[in-house]
Amino acid sequence: MKKKAFVLLLAFSMVLAFALSACGGGSSDGGDEEATLRVVTEATFAPFEFTEDGDDEIKGFDVDMMNAIAEDQGLKIEFINMEFDSLIPALESDQGDIIAAGMNKLAGDRAEKADFGDTYFESDLMLLVKSDSTLTGIDAVTPDMKLASQIGTTGGDYVQKLADEGKIAQGVVLNQWTDSYMQLQNGDVQGVVVDKPVGEAYLNAHSDIAKFVGEPFGDHEEFAYAVQKGNKELLDKLNAGLANMKENGTYDELVDKWFS
Ligand code: GLN
Repeated sequence: MKKKAFVLLLAFSMVLAFALSACGGGSSDGGDEEATLRVVTEATFAPFEFTEDGDDEIKGFDVDMMNAIAEDQGLKIEFINMEFDSLIPALESDQGDIIAAGMNKLAGDRAEKADFGDTYFESDLMLLVKSDSTLTGIDAVTPDMKLASQIGTTGGDYVQKLADEGKIAQGVVLNQWTDSYMQLQNGDVQGVVVDKPVGEAYLNAHSDIAKFVGEPFGDHEEFAYAVQKGNKELLDKLNAGLANMKENGTYDELVDKWFS
């Protein structure tokens, strides 16, 4: 009899232990663990977002700004690096929550696919060439030339348009800006069409082998952060955080840090 009672008690204890662990483990639907927002970006766009020396850590102006906004607005964020032309599809397919990628909110049909916040930076396109190039500017390109830029970007669209119009032989659109710079230095292309502040960052480190030629061109750009279509609550928080960063001096500090 005693043995039977012991076995029953042991079985009851095991069932109880299992039930408690099932309740205590993991986060229930009602858990107060707030969701971590996925900030998607393309990290070869220094000084906005970049990695260096094979390190996966993403650094740059957009990283610092987004972290400051997140702290100000009580958001938890993580950064996910992907190709530029995957950024808006990532929001559309709920693979990302925020785009922070020096993205021009005025370009193409982007604003139909995602909701963009207030402008945080303005830019134009520039032509980057090798330091010994005789090219004088974007209007001087010839039909035998190839120009590189990044796929899915305003620069990429610009070089493809020049090629479609027969003004250059080929618009070489690549996944990473670093590939475009490499092709320029290898002589595979005669120029790179790039956002002015990003080209300036490249020239800061490579003024011996490259230069800008001519004046800014293309449509004037307004960079903004973006959220999934209809997520007004999150967009309002990003805009409020940005306004606070401009008000309290953080924005100016980060501009000095990354663009001076
Ligand atoms: N400003 C350009 C655009 O919006 C390039 C952005 C980028 O390469 N990260 O298309």
